[in-house]
Amino acid sequence: MNPQITYKPSEEVDFVIVGSGAAGGVLAKELSTAGFKVVVLEQGRWIDPSDFSHDEITITNEFQLTNNPRQQPQAFRRTPQDKAQKQFAVIYGRLVGGGSVHFTGNFWRFHEIDFVERSRRGTIAGTGFADWPLTYADLEPYYTKVEWEIGISGLAGASPFDPPRSKPYPLPPMPVKSSGVLFERAAWKLGLHPFPAPLAILSQPYRGRAGCIHCGRCEAFGCEVGAKTSSLASVIPVAQQTGRCEIRTESYVHRVEINQQGRATGVAYFDAHRQPQFQKARAVIVSANGAETARLMLLSRSPSFPQGLANSSGMVGKHLMINGYTEVFATFDEPLNEFKSVTDTRVLHDFYEMDPKLGFYGGGGIDARFGYPPIGFALGALPPDAPRWGKAYKNWLASYSRTMLLASHATSLPLETNSISLDPELKDAWGLPAMCVTYKDHPDDLNTVRYLRDRSIEILQAAKAPKVWAAPVQEQSIAVHLLGTCRMGNDPKTSVINSDHRAHDVPNLFLCDGSSFVTSGRGQPTMTIQALAFRAADRIAAAARRGEV
Ligand SMILES: Cc1cc2nc3c(=O)[nH]c(=O)nc-3n(C[C@H](O)[C@H](O)[C@H](O)COP(=O)(O)OP(=O)(O)OC[C@H]3O[C@@H](n4cnc5c(N)ncnc54)[C@H](O)[C@@H]3O)c2cc1C
Repeated sequence: MNPQITYKPSEEVDFVIVGSGAAGGVLAKELSTAGFKVVVLEQGRWIDPSDFSHDEITITNEFQLTNNPRQQPQAFRRTPQDKAQKQFAVIYGRLVGGGSVHFTGNFWRFHEIDFVERSRRGTIAGTGFADWPLTYADLEPYYTKVEWEIGISGLAGASPFDPPRSKPYPLPPMPVKSSGVLFERAAWKLGLHPFPAPLAILSQPYRGRAGCIHCGRCEAFGCEVGAKTSSLASVIPVAQQTGRCEIRTESYVHRVEINQQGRATGVAYFDAHRQPQFQKARAVIVSANGAETARLMLLSRSPSFPQGLANSSGMVGKHLMINGYTEVFATFDEPLNEFKSVTDTRVLHDFYEMDPKLGFYGGGGIDARFGYPPIGFALGALPPDAPRWGKAYKNWLASYSRTMLLASHATSLPLETNSISLDPELKDAWGLPAMCVTYKDHPDDLNTVRYLRDRSIEILQAAKAPKVWAAPVQEQSIAVHLLGTCRMGNDPKTSVINSDHRAHDVPNLFLCDGSSFVTSGRGQPTMTIQALAFRAADRIAAAARRGEV
């Protein structure tokens, strides 16, 4: 770990931040560089980038970077009427840097439509479809700030569907891969508009960090040279260098305390030895992600907040959105060697806003990639007619270097019944109520994914792939994009926080991460999570200077 200041838990710091992920890291950097004393409590460990492993088993089966269901089990059900079963349903990064360490690095801005879709499209029966209390124009300076502060590679103006921007990307796009070339040529034939994928991966050295070494382990892995712009590699070192920010690891927060005046006084947590501790703070910021932030609010219930902290609206945990996703595979006769370099290099947004005449709501993007490591490929990415045993199976495995896929990323509608709640029976290794995930895709979400799957098949056929096959479109039961469970809004009756991320019910409590989302966007939410965090930090710092925190 980098050298840093340490505070006593009994010392009242200006801000305690729960979680050091995509949002928490940005807030820590911004508030500490603005002169405030900050403690970040992170339940996971500090893993030095040089210790990141390329070992697939360590990553996927031993949970080196992610939440471990053996310690923190989860329950899952489709609807509130069902009995939940113990099931691993939510995956997130559980280490310093959170999900920004192991994510794939696709970094799309939201478009203007994403913030005002309810006004443009009208209501969608049975959903909580709503406008955001801010617009793309409000967030644009912060999207630019993210790109330049942490280092994003891309080509401004390359997509005719891009929203307006005030500055180009600081770094050129990554070199195109075989999948990108095949996708691009086929998409052009069909009159579509592929463009270089904007990535949170440095295509060249930037601000003292190394550029990408094309090792081929981005998706689900950590970057040992720090070229992936995780909070660990980008903003957290800057926060520590201020001498005002402590990142306290293996600190599992289980309660935000409130005094009789209804103000937050700090947070209770278990330290690395599972001993109870309490960190005092003038204000509390929760950036624990779209699942754990809601769970922490529910765990913090008290006589003044019997349904959970900051939950007078009853909206905490509700409207969980996870983005639709599907894959269409193709095997070619020649080697593509897709296991090298970044996961994907070309994307298209021609279907970002789908025609309402299709009869359902939705939109999304398609990228060309092959993110599967070898074991994942052998177990999960073969066509349905491929042999599963013996020499014939072995022959099929040789197609690893000749396979690619088109991945579709799509909207998911906010349904009140899709939620994070506390399971009444299941407990984690600390004796706390486990998270219960309730999730059922809206029919429009499934129709959107089917539509994008069909377009992907057409593109791969236009690429003259000898073999094309699609994963079945089915109800999702694993979530990696965790959005919307403490939504922002102007009305305290229908939302949890205001547009400055301040809880409507508690004046010195702020929630800022994927949970703040009102609608889902089209996949790749982290760019917007970090733009919101930069904006929130500005608003919170200004309010603190005015004595309004
Ligand atoms: C395999 C994979 C690939 C992905 N690829 C992409 C991609 O290409 N593009 C994209 O936009 N998104 C991607 N994502 C999603 C991305 O990782 C998340 O959107 C992003 O990290 C969420 O940011 P956040 O700040 O909301 O939370 P996180 O980054 O999850 O940070 C939350 C932090 O809080 C900590 N925490 C939680 N609870 C507590 C507690 N009680 N006490 C203390 N600490 C706590 C966690 O350990 C974590 O470090 C991917 C996700 C996965 C799993």
